[in-house]
Order: sequence, then C-alpha cells, then structure tokens
Amino acid sequence: MKKKVLFSREEMARLCVEALKSRGVEIDEIAKIAYQQQARYTSNIRFETCRESVLKILSLRDIFHHVLLAVELDRMAEQKLFRGPIQDIIEQDLGLFGVDEVLGLDVARLYGVIGMTNFGDIDVNKHGIVSRLNEDGKKEGIVHTFLDDIVGAIAAAASTRVAQVINEDIAHEEPHKAISLFD
Ligand code: MG
Repeated sequence: MKKKVLFSREEMARLCVEALKSRGVEIDEIAKIAYQQQARYTSNIRFETCRESVLKILSLRDIFHHVLLAVELDRMAEQKLFRGPIQDIIEQDLGLFGVDEVLGLDVARLYGVIGMTNFGDIDVNKHGIVSRLNEDGKKEGIVHTFLDDIVGAIAAAASTRVAQVINEDIAHEEPHKAISLFD
C-alpha cells in the first residue's frame, strides 16, 4: 500500500514544528528573530503576531517540503550517508557551497523582494538562534549547513508577513473616500 504523502495544513505545521524541535529549534526562537527584525521598522508589533506568522508559513506545502528536506540533509550528513566530496562539502559547511542559501531564498521569496532582503540581513548578521546554530554547526559531529538558512528564511518570511498584516490593518483604519487612479 502506498504511504501517505498528502497532509493537511494543520498536519504540515505540526510536522514542521516536530522536525525543527528534533534539531533543537523552538518556534518561539524563530518568532523572536522575526519580532526583533520587524521592530526596527514598525512599532506596536505583538510577539503573538510573529508566532502566528511562523506557524502559518510552516503550514504551507512548499515550506513543509523545504523544512523536512533541510532537516534530513543535515542529519544524513551527520551520519555520513552521502557519497563522495558532497559529504565533506556539506559536513564542513563550505563557504562556497550555496545550495543551502538557495533553499532559504526559495522560502523567503514567498514574501517577495522584501522577504529575500530580510533573509539576506539574517543570513549576514546571524540574528538570534541563527548565530547559535551556525556556531554549534562547527562542532564535531553536528551539521547545521541547511538548518541555519531554513530557520533564517522562515524568520524573514514571518517578519515580512507581520509587516503586511500591520499595513493591511492601517489601510482599513484610514478614512474611506472614493479613490480615483487619477487623483
Ligand atoms: Mg548554511
């Protein structure tokens, strides 16, 4: 019998949370990066909106596939399951290896150019847990080559979503008047 490959959004979010937890990453730590990043640009951000944004993003099928794949690639490299040079390249997190960033960018691009630039900021400045993952990944037996990017990208997407949510609220608050394209 074929195994189940289609999951509901609720199941996908739960499985992502479990996969990240199995690699030592809590949702609140991702939400914290989103909060700190967006707080630089927008006031009145609620931590709960950041948390909710992370969970919304984790419930999307594409993101679910990216998260599970990233987690497995690191775990497989830790167990030395790849053959040839790619095992050492992933294990040593070679600076010139960019496929981990490609997966991250693919997640961040869910929220357009702003999502991608926010990911660049987290990738370069290593906010919060991304810095910890990066440092731990240098230790013997631990591989975080894909995890740090996927976590940074989820935080970037969540941070951008929060900005979208807040701006949508502001748009609704502003007094309604007939708007013409040619005013
Ligand atoms: Mg990486």
